[in-house]
Amino acid sequence: MVNKAKLKKELQLLYGVRDIILDEPMSRHTSMGAGGTADLFIVPADVEELKRILAFFEQRKIDFMPLGNGSNLIVRDGGYRGALISLKGLKRIEIVSTGTEETLLYAEAGTTLSRLVDFSIEHSLGGIEFCEGIPGSLGGALKMNTGAYGGEMKDIVETIFTLRPCTHIEALRRDNLHFDYRCLNLPEGSIITGACIKLVSRSTELIKKRVEEIKASRKSKHPINLRSAGSIFRNPPGLPAGKLIEEAGLKGYQIGDAQISEMHGNFIVNKGAACARDIVNLIDMARKTVKEKTGILLETEVKIIGDEK
Ligand SMILES: Cc1cc2nc3c(=O)[nH]c(=O)nc-3n(C[C@H](O)[C@H](O)[C@H](O)COP(=O)(O)OP(=O)(O)OC[C@H]3O[C@@H](n4cnc5c(N)ncnc54)[C@H](O)[C@@H]3O)c2cc1C
Repeated sequence: MVNKAKLKKELQLLYGVRDIILDEPMSRHTSMGAGGTADLFIVPADVEELKRILAFFEQRKIDFMPLGNGSNLIVRDGGYRGALISLKGLKRIEIVSTGTEETLLYAEAGTTLSRLVDFSIEHSLGGIEFCEGIPGSLGGALKMNTGAYGGEMKDIVETIFTLRPCTHIEALRRDNLHFDYRCLNLPEGSIITGACIKLVSRSTELIKKRVEEIKASRKSKHPINLRSAGSIFRNPPGLPAGKLIEEAGLKGYQIGDAQISEMHGNFIVNKGAACARDIVNLIDMARKTVKEKTGILLETEVKIIGDEK
């Protein structure tokens, strides 16, 4: 990458971008709490600022990647060469239309899922209860087609708004969206800026009841008091990856401060000072062991980016 300090100055002075940090440790921005630095860590204040940033990166051929809450992400210890663009500044929610049965909501990509669940309780709108306890942002959840407890983002989304370098905001209706298991296919370089989601009228009591059930279930099954990135591996068809790891005898196996959770085989937890290398080595070891014992090759659900140290 070219002179970072110069890029920062240009972005600030010529493009009016205020929130730029150089060499920012990604341990501060990922739920795993580990990983190297991003050359540039940028938090656009609004969509217009994001447009200017993307145009500048296109012109300068700078690699970039959008970042939500970093709850499905591991950045290797050598860090990310380029710019990580955090969407956390975009968090407006607005009711677009209300019918007797259904309500259309617009939310910006950086809105957290927990805020959306709270909003749905406040407004007696059901359909998003399945997101309880998932520490992601709306943009990240859509890109990952996040799901749990019988629901997935694809079930509730109506329109997604995306931005690519040197283009205008594009509205993609649900019929034109290609969702897959834990994945939404979007053209290269697309950043989700917001989405319309459809919720249904439901009594606050019913929503709260379901949310409490999910909360209790997560508490009993997942290591929610330790840092993790949720499920590390995608479930192979019909088989929970966690069970395969558990049956391979790997629960509790530890490399450095990274441990395969004693509670759930598909979670790796950071017991304090794990580095990304420990976590990635543990992932490789679990994949190799499961392959040897069962012939099944596990694929990661979690995104792993950046350079090795
Ligand atoms: C304790 C715990 C429990 C979890 N439980 C679940 C679960 O039950 N089900 C489940 O599916 N997941 C679960 N997860 C994983 C994770 O929380 C979800 O995948 C989450 O929705 C990811 O959102 P994020 O904002 O953190 O994305 P990030 O981790 O920031 O990013 C993930 C990917 O999405 C891309 N991305 C992020 N924002 C945008 C955007 N605006 N536009 C385009 N691309 C974007 C990133 O570039 C990256 O490739 C869990 C994680 C934890 C830590």
